[in-house]
Formats: sequence, C-alpha cells, structure tokens
Amino acid sequence: MENKHVTELEIDLSALKHNYQYLKGKTANNTKILAVVKAFAYGLEPSNIASELEKEGVDYFGVAYANEGILLRENSITKPILVLHAQPDNYKLLIDYNLEPNIYSLYTLNRFLEFAKEQNLKEYPIHLKFNSGLNRLGFNGDELDELIGLIQHNKNIKVASAFSHIAASEDLNEQEFTQKQIFTFNNIITQLRLKLTNSFTVHMSNTSGVINYQNAHFDMVRLGIGLYGFGNDAKETDKLKNVATLKSVISQIRVVQKGDNVSYNRAFTAQKEEKIAIIPIGHADGFSRPLGCGRGYVTINGQKAYTSGNVCMDMILVNVTHINCKEGDPVIIFDNQKTVEQFASICNTISYEILTAISQRIKRKIKH
Ligand SMILES: *Cc1c(COP(=O)(O)O)cnc(C)c1O
Repeated sequence: MENKHVTELEIDLSALKHNYQYLKGKTANNTKILAVVKAFAYGLEPSNIASELEKEGVDYFGVAYANEGILLRENSITKPILVLHAQPDNYKLLIDYNLEPNIYSLYTLNRFLEFAKEQNLKEYPIHLKFNSGLNRLGFNGDELDELIGLIQHNKNIKVASAFSHIAASEDLNEQEFTQKQIFTFNNIITQLRLKLTNSFTVHMSNTSGVINYQNAHFDMVRLGIGLYGFGNDAKETDKLKNVATLKSVISQIRVVQKGDNVSYNRAFTAQKEEKIAIIPIGHADGFSRPLGCGRGYVTINGQKAYTSGNVCMDMILVNVTHINCKEGDPVIIFDNQKTVEQFASICNTISYEILTAISQRIKRKIKH
C-alpha cells in the first residue's frame, strides 16, 4: 500500500539536470563527471537521481559504502560505481555487484590483493586515493614506492584512477594551502605515471573545486552538493536550481490563551491569545531542535509561521495567529536553497547536513 504520510520531499529532476549541465559547462569538454550519490544522494533519493544523471551522460557514480552501490545496481544503474570508503570485509560483495573499491592504504591494498588472487580476478578496477593535506583517507607520498612495488606487475587488478580530495575548496582564504595540495598531488601523479604502464583517470575536485580551481579539474571531477542546488557562495547557488522541496500539511489548529504553555517543557508561554498550528514533521525527520522556539519557520499560504516552543520528535508547533489558514492546508518547510542555508546557519551547520538529515520516513516524490 502506498505510504500516505503527508509530509513529503519533492525531487525536481529537471532542476537536477540543469545543475548537472551548468556545472559540466565549467569543465573542459573531455573532462569526465563523477556524480556523488552517497547518503541517499545527499538525503534526497538515490535511484531516480542516478537514473536521470545516467540519461544525461554522467561517466561515473560515487558512493561512500558498498550497500549504497548495491542499491544503485538493484535499480538498474549500469555506469561504473566507485565506493569511496570500501571496507575489506565487503570486498566480495563489491565484486558481486561490480563495484570498484577505493584503495587508500597499504593495509587495504594488501587485503584487496590477497582477495583478488584468491578470487582469481583479472584486471579488476581499483582506485588509489592519496592524501595531499586533508589527512583523512589516502596513501601518503612516502608510501608511493612500496605501493608501486605491490601493484606494478599484478594482473589481478588494474588502476582505474588515482585521486585526492581538497580540504577547503570552498574557502578562498585557503587558496595558498589548496594550491599546495594540488602541487603535492601533481607530484604523486607524475611518479605514478612513470611507473605504471596502463593509463588511468586522475581526479581531485568536488563541487567547489570545480567552481574555484580550474587547475584541479584533471581528467574527471566529482560533483556532489552542486547537483543538489548548492554552490560554494550565494552567486553560484543563484545559478543553480532548487532540487528539493519539503512540504507538509496542517494537522490541527488550536487557540491558546494568555499564560498557556506550548509544547514540551513549557518552553513557550503565550502573552496573548494565539493561534497555533501543529505540523507533522519533527526532529526525527530532520527538522532539528535548534529550529524550535521561534528560530525556524515554515510557510503557510505565502506567510512565514515561526516555531512556537520546542520541536518534538514527530511534529512542530507554529504560530499562525496572523495567517488565514485551516486544518489540511499545505505547508512549505523549504522550497529554495536560501531557506536551507538559513536553517543550516541556525543549527550551526552546513546545507549538506540539513539535506542528509531528512529522514527516510518522509515520502519522496519525484517530479519529472
Ligand atoms: C562527498 C565527496 C565529494 C562531493 O563533494 P561536494 O562538496 O558535495 O561536491 C567528492 N569527493 C569525495 C571524496 C567525497 O567524499
């Protein structure tokens, strides 16, 4: 039976298409695009988004974990999929679903080589990740000789790509550091090219790398947040279209009198008669608690209604004293990027976290 939960996240595939083409337009014609669809495509909906991008001609997909790649394969996605945080215990699962591991350390390399030999794999594509300054996953430059020694003549695997990740691509105050990262990575690639006979793809940039660092595009770029409508500044975000709209309806309206308390822990006390609407979305859905007590808002019949009292697990209460509305009326939580960024700032976080926090119990609706 179809889920009739009234709170829904609408995904606009034509906006996604626009964003893909807009960002692709910032790269050279022969630059490949890897679409990052980890964490349910940043909390939106992975399978329709990936299908749409496949139709647009995307070259690669990136996910964080094996199960995210499996979900794409089960939804008929055929393009290559890079698993950015492939874990040795899942190597069998990876090859069963034709997923390609990120190999990021001597430990993971040795584990994969052992496994590849056992399974008698033939030139199975792997991706080598290098640390150039983020100090997260990746080989360090001084491990290069040992790494090359292990893979140079190994026929069980082939290096499909070598990549790195920029620590602060969105922050123009960090240009000097970023250029140093690009320089370090270039050196690694030069050495790797000298020693490996097969050619491989090189990539480093995420969305803001694409926007800010032309010299970090290499052969492929990895687009995440930009596809979903967020650039690294207001000007770029303006050029991108809004992909996600979060909507609900009014469950109940009640009138409270002066002195009445609203919601948990009596956090709000009415100073006069007020009209309160109850909306079926709460902190378990990603409407975070810092948005309570008048800090966050929703839009009802074109007007802002601020939260009244604490956010509950499954609902919020909003002040609609000034709004002509009734039970069953539609409610917009957000339908533009500015609101998401405003919510992020209230919650002391970034747009990424607001999107990925939208819980799976909210129905996804695909708009073509
Ligand atoms: C998540 C991720 C990306 C995408 O970054 P955006 O800033 O969302 O474009 C790219 N590369 C790696 C390694 C990632 O983990």
